Amino acid sequence: MKERTVLVIGGGAGGLCAGIAAAQAGAAVTILEKRPRPGKKLLATGNGRCNLASLGPARYYGDAAFAAQVLSAFPVLRLMDTLESWGLHLAREEERVYPAVRQASAVLSLLTERLAALGGRIETEADVLSVTKEQGRFLARTADGRTFAAGRCVLATGGLAGGNLGSEEKDYRLAAALGHRLTPLFAALAPLETAPPPPKALSGLRLPAYARLWAGPECLEAESGEVLLTDYGVSGICVMQLARAAQEALDRGAAPALTLDFTPVLLPDPLPFGPIPPDTPDRFQEVLALLRQRARTLSGQNPLTGLVPDALGRRLAGKTPEQTARALTCTRLPVRRVRPAAYAQVTAGGVDTAQVDAHTLASRVCPDLYLIGELLNVDGACGGYNLQFAMITGILAGTHAGR
Ligand SMILES: Cc1cc2nc3c(=O)[nH]c(=O)nc-3n(C[C@H](O)[C@H](O)[C@H](O)COP(=O)(O)OP(=O)(O)OC[C@H]3O[C@@H](n4cnc5c(N)ncnc54)[C@H](O)[C@@H]3O)c2cc1C
Repeated sequence: MKERTVLVIGGGAGGLCAGIAAAQAGAAVTILEKRPRPGKKLLATGNGRCNLASLGPARYYGDAAFAAQVLSAFPVLRLMDTLESWGLHLAREEERVYPAVRQASAVLSLLTERLAALGGRIETEADVLSVTKEQGRFLARTADGRTFAAGRCVLATGGLAGGNLGSEEKDYRLAAALGHRLTPLFAALAPLETAPPPPKALSGLRLPAYARLWAGPECLEAESGEVLLTDYGVSGICVMQLARAAQEALDRGAAPALTLDFTPVLLPDPLPFGPIPPDTPDRFQEVLALLRQRARTLSGQNPLTGLVPDALGRRLAGKTPEQTARALTCTRLPVRRVRPAAYAQVTAGGVDTAQVDAHTLASRVCPDLYLIGELLNVDGACGGYNLQFAMITGILAGTHAGR
């Protein structure tokens, strides 16, 4: 009989890693997962390819200092070694780390098999409605009337992002009921709704661009990457990265606006995908020169055909070269709102990290309780930062809880 018992509430990326680490440390582990299967959100990550870590510089928000402490206690390379030692073959695409098979389901299978091999079990359709601590033991009660008990407990209930892939506000109350403060929850890494939306004829267009977020004359943040024009506004990773700053600007009544600059399609030497300095100048004059030169050499043709997507070329046909160059380098769309959590990839806000030890993920207010992953007031940029945070915090918590 194993003496140490650990309950993990939530069978996502973080909870599964916590369960494996606790079982490896010698504990009897039970994971309680409310859905019929664990890891539903994990399966959707990276468009099913699972971008599970980043070797780039840390890009965390909320309590970024807490995230930095966690990563110094357990660096990304150590996470990669750990996953390899569990049997997951990894590959890199520049800074992004994926399973070599580029299949999220393979990651989920590996984690669940590893847990089972260590004797850990997963109770599915176990929607935990309350966790209490009575006489030194945690009691988790589920919606269908079951009660599970253990000496230590890891809360790994994740965030609201992703609609029916995510958790609900009630799941955050488990942490609150055990004495934890919650910071306000809002959607980060979400598309932006604009007023007006892009023209209907351009809806569905996906192309590389620089996206800049403005509050009046000040450029707040800028990103290079792919944008997707939609019937409500703009999506795509590079715009989703601006959602946090857009929400903060909306909250202070700053009327933010998005500008799109399609220079990466038009001119050589575009900046690499990712954040770009907000003061990166647009290249209006160079684009204007290009358009004039094409108008000269391609007389009788639309100079935009073959240069930009057809729908955009048709939309801009008949405009002066100046108007076209302006539209291609600075299309301005006022931001109406950030799309809600259901459309987001991560939730900003959560359990106040001042109440959590960054090296062990142990609660500072409830002994033998650990809190991990997206549930905490830490959110990362696109590119593997959120899964790596969930898995690293899971491994640290599980290792300490299982001892
Ligand atoms: C579409 C999409 C794509 C994404 N792609 C990426 C990507 O490529 N790279 C990246 O780094 N991040 C990505 N993310 C973000 C990433 O998936 C999450 O940040 C990460 O999964 C968080 O892990 P977690 O273990 O904290 O929570 P989750 O993975 O959400 O797991 C929480 C689990 O707890 C369960 N649960 C919740 N409440 C209860 C309860 N009361 N009782 C029992 N069980 C409960 C949930 O059902 C869930 O299974 C993506 C997110 C979305 C929505």
